[in-house]
Amino acid sequence: MTHHKEPMTGSPLIEIKDLSAGYDGRTVLHDVNLCVYERDFLGIIGPNGGGKTTLVKCLLGLLKPTGGSIVCHPRRSGGEGKLTMGYLPQYSTIDRKFPITVEEVVLSGLSGQKPLLSRFTPTQREKAAQVMARMGLEGLGKRAIGTLSGGQLQRALLGRAVVSDPEVVILDEPSTYIDKRFEARLYQLLAELNKERAIILVSHDIGTVLQQVKSIACVNETLDYHPDTGITEEWLERNFNCPIELLGHGTLPHRVLGEHKH
Ligand code: ADP
Repeated sequence: MTHHKEPMTGSPLIEIKDLSAGYDGRTVLHDVNLCVYERDFLGIIGPNGGGKTTLVKCLLGLLKPTGGSIVCHPRRSGGEGKLTMGYLPQYSTIDRKFPITVEEVVLSGLSGQKPLLSRFTPTQREKAAQVMARMGLEGLGKRAIGTLSGGQLQRALLGRAVVSDPEVVILDEPSTYIDKRFEARLYQLLAELNKERAIILVSHDIGTVLQQVKSIACVNETLDYHPDTGITEEWLERNFNCPIELLGHGTLPHRVLGEHKH
């Protein structure tokens, strides 16, 4: 198992400063400071209810922060325009009864690139076909998502997240998808995708995260940036209340929260 040990450097793609967010007047996140770099592979960990999804919603622009700022610096467009992001949602949020095919799911990742109600172009369909092949979904394009295995559905949704070639891909709890057989392939795919883009992987399961990431942020109401501090077994046990095998992992640059209360 190899880890990238150098802390991420250079100017960030995303800069989060003093962010706070919440619902109905209740603060869920506060004083969050974090940078995401080009080709970063950032694991966001923390207990259930700690605010990971809330942070992701803020990043995606789905939830307006109550304070602070998120500044994006897209590279590909020369610093102009929006930073492109792809998103793999949590499994629990997917309605598998929704009558939509695998191809339609993947193509929907391109709907931001066409006028509403117009058809997808042959080039876009070709792109979707390439992505389906890359995800190992050949021949399944016309299948309704309700007939897929958990792993196949996850790959279709991952295809949707990456089909537009976004600069950042955010994956929310990818380890909760059922198909364990696909896990190794998923991580291989992520490593490939990471060569061209930043990946943010959200999980309450630190075991999943540790094998993959270049840096770690822990979210439990707040989060701080601690450059290049090793994660120790003791730290993990203290913060996750569960013993974790870290033998041979050494240290890992990470970004850790301040107060933990669990
Ligand atoms: P995590 O993703 O780490 O499990 P969340 O960001 O989903 O945590 O939740 C953080 C807190 O915000 C929890 O206390 C949760 O109950 C609350 N929360 C999340 N979504 C909403 C919502 N839509 N309305 C009200 N409260 C919410």
